[in-house]
Amino acid sequence: MAKTAEVELAQLKTAVRYLAGLLNEGTLLNQFEPATREELAAILNLLVQKVEGLPAAIPENLVQATAVRAIVDAADQHSATEQDDRQDNLQRHMSQAETKASINCHTLGEWEKVEGSDNEYQATCRGCGGFVYVSHVDIYDLLLPDCERT
Ligand SMILES: [Zn+2]
Repeated sequence: MAKTAEVELAQLKTAVRYLAGLLNEGTLLNQFEPATREELAAILNLLVQKVEGLPAAIPENLVQATAVRAIVDAADQHSATEQDDRQDNLQRHMSQAETKASINCHTLGEWEKVEGSDNEYQATCRGCGGFVYVSHVDIYDLLLPDCERT
């Protein structure tokens, strides 16, 4: 007995979703970089979702366009996540720098954006005038071990 289109569609969806899950999880696909796997998984999940939302009668080229939209949307999601991660790291570096400064009796002023840089901030000690810089990548602590007022 021939398989119906519905059955084939259901099987295809199950297989694609499972493949997306494998890509996300990575055990069978450890030759791929994690970021590549996760992005491919996001693309496949979006593709299934977008195809489900297509109207019944549309031209084939518009069906194909859902692949492009899935790729674009996955890239957007990815860069939003990256942006969040950077913001989290920046905040974490600021609190670490503040904690260390206060342990050494420094009194940091407000964080100010470093001129000409998007992701670098500096704070000055009100006591000794020493500096600390932070970015999402690192902490550059130029404070002396103890706050000495001059
Ligand atoms: Zn100080």
